[in-house]
Amino acid sequence: MIDYHIHIGQFNEIYYNSSKIFSIIERLSSKTKINKFYYSSTSSCRDDAELIKIEEEINYAQNLILNGIKAYPYLWFIPKYAEQRINVASAAKSFDYCGIKLHPAGQIWDENNSTHLKSLHQIFRWANDNKKIILIHCGKQSRTLPSRFELFFSEYKDAKIILAHSNPIQETIEMINKYENVFSDTAFVTQSKLETLYSKINDKTKILFGSDFPITHYYSTHLFLEKKTLKQEYLDNCNLIKYMQE
Ligand SMILES: [Zn+2]
Repeated sequence: MIDYHIHIGQFNEIYYNSSKIFSIIERLSSKTKINKFYYSSTSSCRDDAELIKIEEEINYAQNLILNGIKAYPYLWFIPKYAEQRINVASAAKSFDYCGIKLHPAGQIWDENNSTHLKSLHQIFRWANDNKKIILIHCGKQSRTLPSRFELFFSEYKDAKIILAHSNPIQETIEMINKYENVFSDTAFVTQSKLETLYSKINDKTKILFGSDFPITHYYSTHLFLEKKTLKQEYLDNCNLIKYMQE
């Protein structure tokens, strides 16, 4: 079982060290059945984010020794890298990246800006040519709607698109049913929302498990003031797996 949506790095005031996060996933793997996971660094959201610093974090994470479990990074590409004229395909050579993460809520992509548009094409082309993932943060804001990058979904058919959070649900269902290469994940998805998704999508294997750990822990402890360990949080996240039809 794969967890498509894990994070390391700086998130607001907390730094989630990859050794801590990975060891929790590793220690719980016999219970959760997760034997592979894909992660990205939320340090990419810092105002002073620099690719070279993120690469140091990934390098450290990739050198951790894990027992019976595999970890692959996403290259979280931000408009600032586009403005720095960083070429996507060259940057993607640094590690065995599983794909690229886009967060159009945290970072403002502007298709009317030719530099941004060029980078977006590079991103989708790289994923298409290498059969890689593009994990896109989705939500209810207009710039984060699941259809935001729809023109790219049809142009780059071999890129595997994952609409993170399956939110809003109706548009997520439309995109999944319309495009063969579009999938969604279960990050912050409830059991009842998962049931709605299953009742309306044609191919049930297109809902992928993504926990968004440990960001879920940040919200459950900071926003909902729950007293939970990181370990308990990951177990709770993985509880959803038993309802999945992958
Ligand atoms: Zn996330």
